[in-house]
Amino acid sequence: MANEDCLFCRIAALEVPADIVFEDDLIVAFRDISPKAPVHILLISREHITSAASLTDANGPMLGRLFAVAAQLARDENIARSGFRLTTNSGAGAGQSVNHLHFHLMGGRQMGWPPG
Ligand code: 5GP
Ligand code: ZN
Repeated sequence: MANEDCLFCRIAALEVPADIVFEDDLIVAFRDISPKAPVHILLISREHITSAASLTDANGPMLGRLFAVAAQLARDENIARSGFRLTTNSGAGAGQSVNHLHFHLMGGRQMGWPPG
């Protein structure tokens, strides 16, 4: 169910502009407004899910699609061979700032490990 107070629900509904690179019935992907790497794309569930902490088995088809779309975008953006990070922050302590499930697809530079 879309949440009118949620920024990413509003992006998925095209109410807030974004540079959308992929969308289907389950997933929307768009470029991060403040990129932290040469390629920085956010992949979100079209359904409002607060964070990875809320995921269940029922979300399997959506997550399978999300990972397949991420891999395709990584190939399209030429970061599949050089390497990329696909990560989600769950909860304020992990740095989550938008409370709608999203995965960061980042690449095009050397990534440090572990993240801060
Ligand atoms: P988090 O900090 O929750 O893991 O990631 C949220 C991400 O959303 C951040 O990287 C931030 O730059 C991005 N972001 C926040 N507001 C907007 C927006 O209005 N448009 C887009 N495209 N990205 C946004
Ligand atoms: Zn939402």
